[in-house]
Amino acid sequence: MLRTVSLFRLVRENGGKACLSGLLLLGLLGVLPGCGERKAVLTSEIQHRGKLVAGVKFDSKPFGFLDSEDGQLKGYDIDLMREISRRLLNKENAVEFQQVFSSTRVIAIDSGSVDVVAATMTITPKRAKVVAFSDPYLIAHQAVVVPTKSSVKSLSDLNGKTILFVLGTTSEATIKKRLPQAKYTGFKSSTDAFSALKSGRGDAMTTDDTIISGFLTDNCGFRVLNEKLSDEPYGLAFRKGSAQAPDELRLQVNKYLAEMKQDGTLERLKAKWVDTALNAKPCKP
Ligand code: GLU
Repeated sequence: MLRTVSLFRLVRENGGKACLSGLLLLGLLGVLPGCGERKAVLTSEIQHRGKLVAGVKFDSKPFGFLDSEDGQLKGYDIDLMREISRRLLNKENAVEFQQVFSSTRVIAIDSGSVDVVAATMTITPKRAKVVAFSDPYLIAHQAVVVPTKSSVKSLSDLNGKTILFVLGTTSEATIKKRLPQAKYTGFKSSTDAFSALKSGRGDAMTTDDTIISGFLTDNCGFRVLNEKLSDEPYGLAFRKGSAQAPDELRLQVNKYLAEMKQDGTLERLKAKWVDTALNAKPCKP
C-alpha cells in the first residue's frame, strides 16, 4: 500500500489558498504552524479503521527505500512501523505507507494525511512546537561526504567551496552556521543531492551519517570526513494533543518503543539495517 503525498492535496485539505504561501515557505524550512486545528489521532480511531497510515521516505536507504531488485519498500523505519502495527493492530502489515520528503514531513502530519511520520526526523525544540515527538529511537550524526579524489580533508577546507544539502533539514541549518563562507545548493531529497555530488555539481554533500552510509553501499568513489557536526536523535512525529484530544497514540507508541528497547527489537533493527550500512567497507572504483 504505497501512496505519494501530493502537496496540492495537502494544501486543499488544509483549508485552501490562505495556507498556500505559508505551507510552501515553511514546509521548505521543515517547520509549519497549523493552518487549522487538527486533532491528535486517537488509538481507538486507528483500531476502528484497522490500519495505521505512516509517512516514510521512499529513497533513503537504509531507512525507507524501494528495493531495485523486487520493487518492495524496505528499511529500518518500514520495519519499525510494521512492529508498531503488530503491537497496536495484531497484524504487522496493517500499515499504509505514504512517501514524505524531509521538507514535507511536518506538512504531512499537520494536514492529517498521515498518523505518524517515521522518516529520519531529528527531534528539535523548533519542530516540537509544531509536532509531538516520540522518545528517541536512534541517534545519528551529521556528516559530510566528498569524492575520494577530493583535496578536502577536513571541514575547514570547505570554506569557499559548494556544499549540497537537503532543504528543510537540521543539516542545512548546522552547516550554514558552521561554514558561513561556503556556497550552498539545496535539494528536495538526499537522492537528488547525492546525484548532484556524483555529477560534480558540488564539492561535498552533508546529511546524517546513517543516510550517507546508504549511498556508499551502492556507490564507489566517495569518503566521509572524520568530523561529525552534531548528534541527531530520531523521533517519530505525531499531531499534537489537546485537552479535547489527548495524544494517546504517541503515548502508546512510547510504551511500545520502551518494550522494543527492553526486548531487543530496536537493537535488532539497528544491527540489521543501520550497523550493516555504517560498517560496510567502501567499495573500490
Ligand atoms: N535527520 C535530519 C533532519 O531531520 C537530516 C536528515 C533528514 O533529511 O532526515 O533534518
